[in-house]
Amino acid sequence: MAVEALTATNVAVIGGGFAGLSAAWHLRQCGLRVTLFEKDHIGAGASGIAAGLLHAYMGRDAQKAWMADEALTATRALLTVSAEALKAPVIAHKGMLRVALNERQQASFYERSELHDDVEWLDATSTSERIPGLVSAPGILVHSGLCVDCPKYLQGLWLACEGAGVKRVHEAPDITTLRARFEHVIVTAGASSLDFPELTEVPLRRVKGQLVVLRWPDSIPPIKIPINSHVYILPPDDSGLCVAGATFERDYIDYEPCEASARELLMPKIASLMPALASADIVEVRAGVRVTTPTRLPIVQEIDQGLWVFSGLGARGLLYHGLYGEQLSEQIVKKEKTKTT
Ligand SMILES: Cc1cc2nc3c(=O)[nH]c(=O)nc-3n(C[C@H](O)[C@H](O)[C@H](O)COP(=O)(O)OP(=O)(O)OC[C@H]3O[C@@H](n4cnc5c(N)ncnc54)[C@H](O)[C@@H]3O)c2cc1C
Repeated sequence: MAVEALTATNVAVIGGGFAGLSAAWHLRQCGLRVTLFEKDHIGAGASGIAAGLLHAYMGRDAQKAWMADEALTATRALLTVSAEALKAPVIAHKGMLRVALNERQQASFYERSELHDDVEWLDATSTSERIPGLVSAPGILVHSGLCVDCPKYLQGLWLACEGAGVKRVHEAPDITTLRARFEHVIVTAGASSLDFPELTEVPLRRVKGQLVVLRWPDSIPPIKIPINSHVYILPPDDSGLCVAGATFERDYIDYEPCEASARELLMPKIASLMPALASADIVEVRAGVRVTTPTRLPIVQEIDQGLWVFSGLGARGLLYHGLYGEQLSEQIVKKEKTKTT
């Protein structure tokens, strides 16, 4: 197919979070003309406050996620693109400990360590030796796990998009108007995707998530890698502040951070992992809204001629945004190619 045909194809992407930037980057790499509409700033939605955990072993039983290897490869490629554009690292921590708190988890975590080279089983003595202050429990060290500095990553990925020729408009556009100007319009507006009347039939659901920022106590040494169980705790930064979370709230009143509910929902779980954090000061509460689907996998779908939705990344936005962004751009390129043949 003639490259000129693709370079004449105009695509609008609505939203500048993980999904929007991945879509914009991949489409631009295929030669299409991309304009990104962001009503606020890059990373203004859930992506900007995400804790940054990126790994393959999800859920209560640490089952390997669907297409995890391909997804991790796609995300790592974007992390490299971002770090190169920023000329600075975007990964905050490498490795992750998943703590097994009951017999069922112990059995399934142990099985993961038998099956996968990047997973190492640690008995309770080893976890306590490595992480002073941790409750006595075995776990798995996920060597391939990463913790991404999300604001930096988004900043770098946007710089790369801009450098590649993606245009940005600071606006909340009207879909009908956009469709008259662009061959393809992609909605990646996170929680706000549900507000577009064109998307009412798409099975998306909002789930609020809150994180607490805690002051690390003097009584235990700071952890060096993220700990992940029924909650996660990230290593404290240079000011002694650590992020822990997250809540999954289906019944909520608004999107605002709420210290009372975050404390009630998170602190008992945090204390059950690291008892010394039970009385840690909550310095800040952050809130965002994830979008989930019935299959718990993202949706990439053309809902009408040239109108696409890329959403539903749930709690796995970092894992899946690269892979699904790639797939979306492949689908659009394929459609453009069939138009000209
Ligand atoms: C507390 C919390 C912790 C999380 N931690 C992790 C984690 O550790 N690892 C992980 O993988 N995932 C995590 N997630 C999930 C992750 O944040 C989401 O999967 C991801 O951010 C979804 O990206 P998105 O691009 O679809 O949406 P968003 O990041 O919400 O982006 C949507 C963008 O669209 C813009 N927008 C909205 N409406 C319009 C409009 N009309 N016009 C123009 N622009 C518009 C918004 O301003 C926003 O910038 C977490 C989520 C929460 C809430």
